[in-house]
Amino acid sequence: MLEIDGSQGEGGGQVLRGALALALATATPFAIRRIRAKRSKPGLLRQHLTCVEAARAVSGATVTGAKLGSTELTFAPGPLVPGAYRFDIGSAGSTMLVAQAVLPALLAQGGAWSLELIGGTHNPSAPSYEFFTRTLAPVLGRMGAPVSATLHLAGFYPVGGGRVQIEVAAGERRRPLALRERGAITGRHAIAAVARMPATVAEREVATATRLLGWPREVGSAVELPSPGPGNTVTLVVEAERVTEVFTGHLDRGVGAEDLAREVARECAAYLASVAPVGEYLADQLLVPMALGGGGSFVTVEPSLHTRTQVDVIRAFLGVEVALTAQGDGTWLATVPPRG
Ligand code: AMP
Repeated sequence: MLEIDGSQGEGGGQVLRGALALALATATPFAIRRIRAKRSKPGLLRQHLTCVEAARAVSGATVTGAKLGSTELTFAPGPLVPGAYRFDIGSAGSTMLVAQAVLPALLAQGGAWSLELIGGTHNPSAPSYEFFTRTLAPVLGRMGAPVSATLHLAGFYPVGGGRVQIEVAAGERRRPLALRERGAITGRHAIAAVARMPATVAEREVATATRLLGWPREVGSAVELPSPGPGNTVTLVVEAERVTEVFTGHLDRGVGAEDLAREVARECAAYLASVAPVGEYLADQLLVPMALGGGGSFVTVEPSLHTRTQVDVIRAFLGVEVALTAQGDGTWLATVPPRG
Protein backbone atom coordinates (compact mmCIF):
# COMPACT_ATOMS: atom_id res chain seq x y z
CA MET A 1 0.00 0.00 0.00
CA LEU A 2 1.39 3.39 -1.02
CA GLU A 3 2.28 5.57 1.99
CA ILE A 4 1.45 9.28 1.74
CA ASP A 5 2.58 11.85 4.29
CA GLY A 6 -0.31 14.28 4.73
CA SER A 7 2.02 16.87 6.28
CA GLN A 8 4.24 17.17 3.20
CA GLY A 9 4.54 20.50 1.40
CA GLU A 10 1.50 22.67 2.06
CA GLY A 11 0.25 19.98 4.46
CA GLY A 12 -3.46 20.72 4.01
CA GLY A 13 -6.51 19.07 2.49
CA GLN A 14 -5.16 19.19 -1.02
CA VAL A 15 -2.67 16.37 -0.35
CA LEU A 16 -5.64 14.15 0.54
CA ARG A 17 -7.77 15.30 -2.42
CA GLY A 18 -4.92 14.80 -4.90
CA ALA A 19 -4.22 11.36 -3.46
CA LEU A 20 -7.90 10.33 -3.69
CA ALA A 21 -8.15 11.42 -7.34
CA LEU A 22 -4.92 9.68 -8.32
CA ALA A 23 -5.81 6.53 -6.36
CA LEU A 24 -9.24 6.31 -8.03
CA ALA A 25 -7.81 6.75 -11.52
CA THR A 26 -4.98 4.26 -11.06
CA ALA A 27 -6.72 1.75 -8.74
CA THR A 28 -3.87 2.25 -6.23
CA PRO A 29 -4.58 1.65 -2.52
CA PHE A 30 -2.91 4.15 -0.18
CA ALA A 31 -2.48 4.99 3.48
CA ILE A 32 -2.21 8.62 4.52
CA ARG A 33 -0.94 9.75 7.92
CA ARG A 34 -0.60 13.18 9.53
CA ILE A 35 -3.62 14.44 7.55
CA ARG A 36 -3.72 18.28 7.43
CA ALA A 37 -0.91 18.40 10.01
CA LYS A 38 -0.06 21.99 9.05
CA ARG A 39 -3.55 23.38 9.60
CA SER A 40 -4.78 24.94 12.86
CA LYS A 41 -7.43 22.19 13.19
CA PRO A 42 -5.60 19.10 11.85
CA GLY A 43 -7.39 15.97 10.68
CA LEU A 44 -10.53 15.43 8.64
CA LEU A 45 -13.21 18.15 8.66
CA ARG A 46 -16.65 17.59 7.13
CA GLN A 47 -15.52 18.69 3.69
CA HIS A 48 -12.61 16.21 3.69
CA LEU A 49 -14.82 13.46 5.02
CA THR A 50 -17.26 14.11 2.15
CA CYS A 51 -14.32 13.93 -0.28
CA VAL A 52 -13.49 10.47 1.11
CA GLU A 53 -17.15 9.44 1.03
CA ALA A 54 -17.52 10.63 -2.57
CA ALA A 55 -14.38 8.74 -3.62
CA ARG A 56 -15.66 5.64 -1.80
CA ALA A 57 -19.13 5.85 -3.36
CA VAL A 58 -17.97 6.18 -6.97
CA SER A 59 -15.57 3.24 -6.66
CA GLY A 60 -16.90 0.94 -3.91
CA ALA A 61 -13.62 1.53 -2.06
CA THR A 62 -12.71 -0.07 1.26
CA VAL A 63 -11.87 2.69 3.74
CA THR A 64 -10.62 2.79 7.33
CA GLY A 65 -10.23 5.85 9.57
CA ALA A 66 -12.91 7.98 7.87
CA LYS A 67 -14.23 9.95 10.84
CA LEU A 68 -14.23 13.58 11.94
CA GLY A 69 -10.84 14.68 13.27
CA SER A 70 -9.06 11.54 12.07
CA THR A 71 -5.42 12.09 11.03
CA GLU A 72 -4.97 8.65 9.45
CA LEU A 73 -6.85 6.92 6.68
CA THR A 74 -6.51 3.93 4.39
CA PHE A 75 -8.27 3.88 1.03
CA ALA A 76 -8.42 0.90 -1.35
CA PRO A 77 -10.48 1.80 -4.44
CA GLY A 78 -12.53 -0.58 -6.58
CA PRO A 79 -13.53 0.07 -10.20
CA LEU A 80 -15.23 3.40 -10.99
CA VAL A 81 -18.97 3.09 -11.60
CA PRO A 82 -20.31 6.00 -13.71
CA GLY A 83 -23.74 7.37 -12.86
CA ALA A 84 -25.57 10.02 -10.81
CA TYR A 85 -24.42 10.73 -7.26
CA ARG A 86 -25.43 13.16 -4.51
CA PHE A 87 -23.10 14.26 -1.71
CA ASP A 88 -24.16 16.50 1.16
CA ILE A 89 -21.30 17.97 3.20
CA GLY A 90 -23.71 18.83 6.01
CA SER A 91 -21.88 22.07 6.72
CA ALA A 92 -20.70 25.10 4.73
CA GLY A 93 -17.60 23.13 3.61
CA SER A 94 -16.65 23.66 -0.03
CA THR A 95 -18.53 21.67 -2.69
CA MET A 96 -15.90 22.75 -5.21
CA LEU A 97 -13.21 21.01 -3.18
CA VAL A 98 -15.28 17.82 -3.02
CA ALA A 99 -15.36 18.00 -6.82
CA GLN A 100 -11.56 18.41 -6.81
CA ALA A 101 -11.14 15.07 -4.99
CA VAL A 102 -13.02 12.99 -7.57
CA LEU A 103 -13.42 14.91 -10.83
CA PRO A 104 -9.95 14.26 -12.33
CA ALA A 105 -10.54 10.51 -11.98
CA LEU A 106 -14.10 10.66 -13.35
CA LEU A 107 -12.84 12.61 -16.36
CA ALA A 108 -10.04 10.11 -16.97
CA GLN A 109 -12.50 7.21 -16.70
CA GLY A 110 -14.37 8.50 -19.73
CA GLY A 111 -17.98 7.73 -18.73
CA ALA A 112 -20.95 10.09 -18.14
CA TRP A 113 -21.17 11.39 -14.57
CA SER A 114 -23.62 13.58 -12.72
CA LEU A 115 -22.78 14.98 -9.27
CA GLU A 116 -25.15 16.92 -7.04
CA LEU A 117 -23.14 18.61 -4.29
CA ILE A 118 -24.64 20.30 -1.21
CA GLY A 119 -22.63 22.66 1.02
CA GLY A 120 -20.64 25.84 0.44
CA THR A 121 -20.29 27.26 -3.07
CA HIS A 122 -18.42 30.46 -2.16
CA ASN A 123 -15.77 29.63 0.44
CA PRO A 124 -12.56 31.33 1.49
CA SER A 125 -9.39 29.46 0.43
CA ALA A 126 -11.29 27.38 -2.13
CA PRO A 127 -12.40 27.75 -5.76
CA SER A 128 -15.72 29.59 -6.01
CA TYR A 129 -18.50 28.34 -8.26
CA GLU A 130 -17.58 31.13 -10.72
CA PHE A 131 -13.93 30.07 -10.75
CA PHE A 132 -15.02 26.51 -11.47
CA THR A 133 -17.38 27.36 -14.33
CA ARG A 134 -15.51 30.23 -15.96
CA THR A 135 -11.85 29.30 -15.36
CA LEU A 136 -11.35 25.59 -14.70
CA ALA A 137 -14.16 23.92 -16.67
CA PRO A 138 -13.29 25.56 -20.04
CA VAL A 139 -9.64 24.46 -19.73
CA LEU A 140 -10.75 20.91 -18.86
CA GLY A 141 -12.96 21.14 -21.96
CA ARG A 142 -9.92 21.91 -24.10
CA MET A 143 -8.26 18.79 -22.70
CA GLY A 144 -11.22 16.84 -24.12
CA ALA A 145 -13.21 16.70 -20.88
CA PRO A 146 -16.64 18.31 -21.27
CA VAL A 147 -17.69 19.48 -17.79
CA SER A 148 -20.54 21.84 -16.98
CA ALA A 149 -21.94 23.11 -13.69
CA THR A 150 -25.18 24.76 -12.61
CA LEU A 151 -25.65 26.74 -9.40
CA HIS A 152 -29.10 26.13 -7.94
CA LEU A 153 -28.49 27.74 -4.54
CA ALA A 154 -25.44 29.57 -3.23
CA GLY A 155 -23.93 28.34 0.04
CA PHE A 156 -21.99 30.65 2.36
CA TYR A 157 -20.34 30.17 5.73
CA PRO A 158 -21.81 29.47 8.29
CA VAL A 159 -25.23 28.31 6.99
CA GLY A 160 -24.08 26.44 3.87
CA GLY A 161 -26.91 24.67 2.04
CA GLY A 162 -25.68 25.63 -1.43
CA ARG A 163 -26.55 23.23 -4.25
CA VAL A 164 -24.53 22.75 -7.39
CA GLN A 165 -24.93 20.20 -10.16
CA ILE A 166 -21.87 19.06 -12.14
CA GLU A 167 -22.28 17.10 -15.36
CA VAL A 168 -19.50 15.25 -17.18
CA ALA A 169 -20.29 14.00 -20.68
CA ALA A 170 -18.82 10.69 -21.83
CA GLY A 171 -15.79 10.84 -24.10
CA GLU A 172 -12.10 10.27 -24.67
CA ARG A 173 -9.93 12.79 -22.73
CA ARG A 174 -6.38 12.57 -23.84
CA ARG A 175 -5.87 15.88 -25.62
CA PRO A 176 -2.64 17.55 -24.43
CA LEU A 177 -3.05 21.07 -23.08
CA ALA A 178 -0.91 23.87 -24.55
CA LEU A 179 -1.56 27.11 -22.69
CA ARG A 180 1.48 29.32 -23.19
CA GLU A 181 -0.11 32.72 -23.83
CA ARG A 182 -3.14 34.63 -22.73
CA GLY A 183 -3.92 36.28 -26.05
CA ALA A 184 -5.69 39.62 -26.18
CA ILE A 185 -8.05 40.54 -23.37
CA THR A 186 -11.60 40.29 -24.70
CA GLY A 187 -13.74 41.00 -21.63
CA ARG A 188 -13.75 42.21 -18.02
CA HIS A 189 -16.48 41.86 -15.44
CA ALA A 190 -16.82 42.96 -11.84
CA ILE A 191 -19.67 41.07 -10.18
CA ALA A 192 -20.65 41.58 -6.57
CA ALA A 193 -23.32 39.25 -5.25
CA VAL A 194 -25.32 39.39 -2.05
CA ALA A 195 -27.66 36.89 -0.43
CA ARG A 196 -30.01 38.05 2.31
CA MET A 197 -28.00 41.27 2.64
CA PRO A 198 -28.61 44.84 1.45
CA ALA A 199 -27.97 45.33 -2.29
CA THR A 200 -26.05 48.51 -1.44
CA VAL A 201 -23.16 46.35 -0.15
CA ALA A 202 -22.72 44.87 -3.62
CA GLU A 203 -23.09 48.28 -5.27
CA ARG A 204 -20.30 49.72 -3.08
CA GLU A 205 -18.04 46.79 -3.93
CA VAL A 206 -18.60 47.19 -7.67
CA ALA A 207 -17.86 50.91 -7.41
CA THR A 208 -14.62 50.30 -5.48
CA ALA A 209 -13.31 47.44 -7.65
CA THR A 210 -14.00 49.16 -10.98
CA ARG A 211 -12.49 52.45 -9.76
CA LEU A 212 -9.29 50.77 -8.49
CA LEU A 213 -8.83 48.78 -11.70
CA GLY A 214 -9.71 51.73 -13.95
CA TRP A 215 -12.54 49.68 -15.51
CA PRO A 216 -15.69 51.39 -16.86
CA ARG A 217 -18.70 51.15 -14.52
CA GLU A 218 -20.65 49.31 -17.27
CA VAL A 219 -18.53 46.16 -16.68
CA GLY A 220 -19.79 46.05 -13.10
CA SER A 221 -22.96 44.37 -11.87
CA ALA A 222 -24.53 43.98 -8.45
CA VAL A 223 -26.66 40.85 -8.24
CA GLU A 224 -28.65 38.86 -5.70
CA LEU A 225 -28.13 35.14 -5.24
CA PRO A 226 -30.72 32.78 -3.78
CA SER A 227 -29.22 31.15 -0.69
CA PRO A 228 -30.47 29.68 2.61
CA GLY A 229 -28.09 32.00 4.51
CA PRO A 230 -26.55 35.45 4.26
CA GLY A 231 -23.44 36.00 2.20
CA ASN A 232 -21.56 38.34 -0.05
CA THR A 233 -18.97 37.65 -2.69
CA VAL A 234 -16.92 39.73 -5.14
CA THR A 235 -15.88 38.15 -8.44
CA LEU A 236 -13.54 39.82 -10.91
CA VAL A 237 -13.30 38.17 -14.33
CA VAL A 238 -10.59 38.70 -16.94
CA GLU A 239 -11.47 37.04 -20.25
CA ALA A 240 -8.66 36.63 -22.75
CA GLU A 241 -8.54 34.79 -26.06
CA ARG A 242 -7.07 31.59 -24.58
CA VAL A 243 -8.05 31.65 -20.90
CA THR A 244 -10.44 33.27 -18.44
CA GLU A 245 -9.17 34.01 -14.93
CA VAL A 246 -11.47 34.66 -11.97
CA PHE A 247 -10.54 36.37 -8.69
CA THR A 248 -12.90 36.03 -5.75
CA GLY A 249 -13.27 37.13 -2.16
CA HIS A 250 -16.03 36.71 0.39
CA LEU A 251 -17.20 39.08 3.09
CA ASP A 252 -16.14 38.00 6.54
CA ARG A 253 -16.84 39.41 9.97
CA GLY A 254 -14.80 42.53 10.61
CA VAL A 255 -14.04 43.18 6.92
CA GLY A 256 -15.72 46.12 5.20
CA ALA A 257 -17.21 45.90 1.70
CA GLU A 258 -14.62 48.36 0.36
CA ASP A 259 -11.75 46.39 1.97
CA LEU A 260 -12.98 43.19 0.36
CA ALA A 261 -13.30 44.83 -3.08
CA ARG A 262 -9.81 46.36 -2.68
CA GLU A 263 -8.24 42.99 -1.82
CA VAL A 264 -9.80 41.19 -4.81
CA ALA A 265 -8.89 44.11 -7.12
CA ARG A 266 -5.28 43.90 -5.89
CA GLU A 267 -5.12 40.20 -6.80
CA CYS A 268 -6.63 40.89 -10.21
CA ALA A 269 -4.21 43.78 -10.85
CA ALA A 270 -1.24 41.53 -10.01
CA TYR A 271 -2.44 39.03 -12.62
CA LEU A 272 -2.90 41.77 -15.20
CA ALA A 273 0.64 43.03 -14.50
CA SER A 274 2.09 39.60 -15.40
CA VAL A 275 1.89 37.96 -18.84
CA ALA A 276 1.28 34.45 -17.44
CA PRO A 277 -2.05 33.02 -18.65
CA VAL A 278 -2.44 30.62 -15.70
CA GLY A 279 -2.82 32.16 -12.23
CA GLU A 280 -1.66 30.62 -8.96
CA TYR A 281 -4.83 28.64 -8.20
CA LEU A 282 -5.57 27.32 -11.67
CA ALA A 283 -1.97 26.04 -11.81
CA ASP A 284 -2.32 23.65 -8.85
CA GLN A 285 -5.78 22.52 -10.03
CA LEU A 286 -4.66 21.60 -13.56
CA LEU A 287 -1.76 19.29 -12.71
CA VAL A 288 -3.69 16.17 -11.66
CA PRO A 289 -6.21 16.26 -14.57
CA MET A 290 -3.31 16.79 -16.99
CA ALA A 291 -1.22 13.97 -15.48
CA LEU A 292 -4.22 11.63 -15.75
CA GLY A 293 -4.93 12.74 -19.32
CA GLY A 294 -2.82 13.85 -22.24
CA GLY A 295 -0.33 15.98 -20.26
CA GLY A 296 0.87 19.19 -21.86
CA SER A 297 2.29 22.49 -20.71
CA PHE A 298 1.27 25.92 -19.45
CA VAL A 299 2.90 29.18 -18.47
CA THR A 300 2.13 30.38 -14.97
CA VAL A 301 3.17 32.67 -12.12
CA GLU A 302 5.72 31.50 -9.53
CA PRO A 303 4.49 28.07 -8.34
CA SER A 304 2.76 28.04 -4.96
CA LEU A 305 3.45 25.46 -2.30
CA HIS A 306 0.12 23.86 -3.31
CA THR A 307 1.45 23.42 -6.86
CA ARG A 308 4.77 21.98 -5.67
CA THR A 309 2.93 19.60 -3.36
CA GLN A 310 0.76 18.33 -6.22
CA VAL A 311 3.97 17.60 -8.15
CA ASP A 312 5.13 15.40 -5.24
CA VAL A 313 1.78 13.57 -4.95
CA ILE A 314 1.72 12.94 -8.73
CA ARG A 315 5.27 11.53 -8.55
CA ALA A 316 4.25 9.19 -5.70
CA PHE A 317 1.29 7.71 -7.64
CA LEU A 318 2.40 7.85 -11.27
CA GLY A 319 6.21 7.77 -10.99
CA VAL A 320 6.49 10.73 -13.39
CA GLU A 321 8.06 14.14 -12.98
CA VAL A 322 6.15 17.36 -13.59
CA ALA A 323 8.77 19.99 -14.52
CA LEU A 324 8.46 23.55 -13.17
CA THR A 325 10.99 25.82 -14.86
CA ALA A 326 11.61 29.51 -14.27
CA GLN A 327 11.69 31.31 -17.61
CA GLY A 328 13.68 34.34 -16.42
CA ASP A 329 10.90 36.86 -17.03
CA GLY A 330 8.95 36.14 -13.84
CA THR A 331 6.86 33.42 -15.48
CA TRP A 332 7.27 29.66 -15.06
CA LEU A 333 6.68 26.80 -17.47
CA ALA A 334 4.90 23.72 -16.13
CA THR A 335 5.34 20.58 -18.26
CA VAL A 336 3.29 17.49 -17.46
CA PRO A 337 4.03 14.13 -19.14
CA PRO A 338 0.99 12.35 -20.63
CA ARG A 339 -0.30 9.33 -18.75
CA GLY A 340 1.69 6.27 -19.85
P1 AMP B 1 -6.16 23.44 0.68
O1 AMP B 1 -5.57 24.71 1.20
O2 AMP B 1 -5.17 22.32 0.76
O3 AMP B 1 -7.49 23.11 1.25
O4 AMP B 1 -6.40 23.66 -0.92
C1 AMP B 1 -7.11 24.77 -1.40
C2 AMP B 1 -7.50 24.59 -2.86
O5 AMP B 1 -8.36 25.67 -3.19
C3 AMP B 1 -6.33 24.68 -3.88
O6 AMP B 1 -6.59 23.81 -4.98
C4 AMP B 1 -6.38 26.12 -4.35
O7 AMP B 1 -5.94 26.30 -5.69
C5 AMP B 1 -7.86 26.43 -4.28
N1 AMP B 1 -8.11 27.88 -4.02
C6 AMP B 1 -7.81 28.57 -2.88
N2 AMP B 1 -8.16 29.88 -3.03
C7 AMP B 1 -8.68 30.00 -4.28
C8 AMP B 1 -9.21 31.10 -5.02
N3 AMP B 1 -9.27 32.34 -4.51
N4 AMP B 1 -9.66 30.86 -6.28
C9 AMP B 1 -9.59 29.62 -6.82
N5 AMP B 1 -9.10 28.55 -6.17
C10 AMP B 1 -8.65 28.73 -4.91
